[in-house]
Amino acid sequence: MPMDSSFHEAFLDELRDLYNAEKQITKALPKMAKAASAAPLADAFETHLRETNEQIRRLEQIFKDLDESSGKKKCKGIEGILDEGKDMMSEDVDEATMDASLIAAAQRVEHYEIAAYGTVVAWAKAMGHDQAARLLQKTLDEEKATDEKLTSLADGGINDIAAGGTGEKQVAAVSNRGSRAKRSTKAGAAR
Ligand code: FE
Ligand code: FE
Repeated sequence: MPMDSSFHEAFLDELRDLYNAEKQITKALPKMAKAASAAPLADAFETHLRETNEQIRRLEQIFKDLDESSGKKKCKGIEGILDEGKDMMSEDVDEATMDASLIAAAQRVEHYEIAAYGTVVAWAKAMGHDQAARLLQKTLDEEKATDEKLTSLADGGINDIAAGGTGEKQVAAVSNRGSRAKRSTKAGAAR
């Protein structure tokens, strides 16, 4: 048995955990996009859904290259985070509070993924799996970019609106679906 075999098994465990996590996330993101009122937030969830599907393909490529199965592991960590998100989405709150809360839930997911992908990138490098490290780094970069995007949406107006503020930050976030519909109705009436 090679010396690094238990480390290799631990690496596979982490990858299988992530594979299942990503699959759970692809089921949650469409619901989060639907629950979002601010159009840029719904767009961010839809964009990240497409990225997540690609992340799943990257993991499948890695399993194939390592000649290993993707396994049948359940990621309990993400299951718990998504469960809390589901509970939150069933709360009866105003649109802006829901948007702010969706960002809070999504950032928990991204931070979990950033921690997990940071680990597997480092482990892949340590074991000399250079191609796997490169693919996992791509995903890690996407998770970090998504987290930053969510922060900029929260800071760019969504939190302000939820707080009932009337600052100019509202202008950026106010392009929500309801307002857009209202604006076009008004424009139509003016003609
Ligand atoms: Fe992901
Ligand atoms: Fe993600």
